[in-house]
Amino acid sequence: QPVQVLESPKIVIKETMKKPSEIVDSARIAFESGRTKSLEFREQQLRNLLKMYEENEQEMLDALKKDLNKSKMEGVLTEVGYLINDLKSLIDNFKEWAEPEKVTRGLANIMDNALIYKDPYGVVLVIGAWNYPLQLAMIPVSGAIAAGNAVVIKPSEISPASAEFIARTLPKYLDNECYQVMCGGVQETTELLKEKFDYIFFTGNGAVGRIVHAAANKHLTPVTLELGGKSPVYLDDTVDVDVAVRRILWGKCINAGQTCIAPDYVLCSKQMEAKFIESSKNVLKEWYGENPQKSPDLCRIVSDNHFKRISKFLNYGKIAVGGGVNAEDRFIEPTILIDVQSTDQIMQEEIFGPILPIININNVDDAIRFINEREKPLALYIFSANKSNVDTLLQNTTSGGVCVNDTLMHLALESLPFGGVGPSGMGAYHGKYTFDTFVHKKSTLVKNLSKLSEKMQSARYPPYTEKKLNF
Ligand code: NAD
Repeated sequence: QPVQVLESPKIVIKETMKKPSEIVDSARIAFESGRTKSLEFREQQLRNLLKMYEENEQEMLDALKKDLNKSKMEGVLTEVGYLINDLKSLIDNFKEWAEPEKVTRGLANIMDNALIYKDPYGVVLVIGAWNYPLQLAMIPVSGAIAAGNAVVIKPSEISPASAEFIARTLPKYLDNECYQVMCGGVQETTELLKEKFDYIFFTGNGAVGRIVHAAANKHLTPVTLELGGKSPVYLDDTVDVDVAVRRILWGKCINAGQTCIAPDYVLCSKQMEAKFIESSKNVLKEWYGENPQKSPDLCRIVSDNHFKRISKFLNYGKIAVGGGVNAEDRFIEPTILIDVQSTDQIMQEEIFGPILPIININNVDDAIRFINEREKPLALYIFSANKSNVDTLLQNTTSGGVCVNDTLMHLALESLPFGGVGPSGMGAYHGKYTFDTFVHKKSTLVKNLSKLSEKMQSARYPPYTEKKLNF
């Protein structure tokens, strides 16, 4: 099989790539051959994938550095190490998850067997986003393989080094027909989406999510949409401000704020705002030094267009901390804004950069109102030592997930399903939930054929009588 290499996101496709229809047709033929269903084959492919990660760790970190200036620490923590751990756990568990599951039966089925079989869907499309360009594409891919599917992978063109790594390296390790990479941007993805898939797993923004959903709908293809939105932080006066600042700013600064569940804005009292700002100045200096642009630990904004969009947000409210930018370097300093109006553009769209506005509220009810007047977020962060405030927020808001007294960390716990609700997405994955995403749960009742069983159930046959009805 020719390796579909992307040299630069613009030229590749037309010259070296197979057409979407060719890719999908050959993946379908491979699926129909039945080999992806064999548990041994799945295991072999997953072990090859693990080998790919382990043998190419440095190349993966280099690609992340090129795309986003990711430090080694962030690259290992949020991408390469994360991928390896997730895959090891998948390899250890997927055979058990793939077993037909016995379910409880009533008296009427006491002699029968009731089972849920885990059928692979068929040919799955995974569309990745640029902000965590390796793991957002590859975690769903490994889950889809473990579940017995053939997979077409479309990495994001906005992170070309990572996309190129996947396109060049994956075919060296995995079956070239069952698992295929297609690179490209809007045009290529639009073409790809005209094909019939059996499942689509999309990560990206809500506008494109709607396009993907509409394309899937034409074939009644089920989807997972991992989208974004504005994830609020509620911070009340009961919390140790230095702990809160570290946990909130870490969530905001990692990947330069380009994280789907980055804390988007803070809701707190005016008194807490003053303490938060003082503490933030110290923490940011401790982390990134006097000149944060020189810090090796801060990522860059992914493209000039993204830089232009985010840097405009600095014009809203008043800069309380930070505010430095450098367009050539696509650098935006971690920044805190105060006196922002809820009608300002920065409060209308997901920030997706290292800028944190603070909105003042007086109490927990104000916070609930503010949150519920907006779209259901992907994550809600509650910082409070007051259990009643935490419970009130939990009971009166809806979000994809919640993390109390920290940010982002709920994503790392594989026993928690990760996903959005409403405009922040549909479906969820991570750990066993990733495997479950990619199987159709086939309800199966296996009836006993014995005469005794037949006799026990004979009341259902005509002629119908009152006696049978009361049986
Ligand atoms: P992106 O630009 O990489 O787009 C995502 C994918 O959609 C890419 O593969 C791209 O090629 C494809 N695409 C773009 N335009 C398209 C079109 N018109 N038709 C078909 N396909 C198209 O990423 P993005 O959308 O900028 O990603 C950022 C967004 O994703 C944020 O909103 C963020 O919150 C969200 N996100 C969500 C998660 C999650 O797990 N829920 C994770 C990461 C990012």
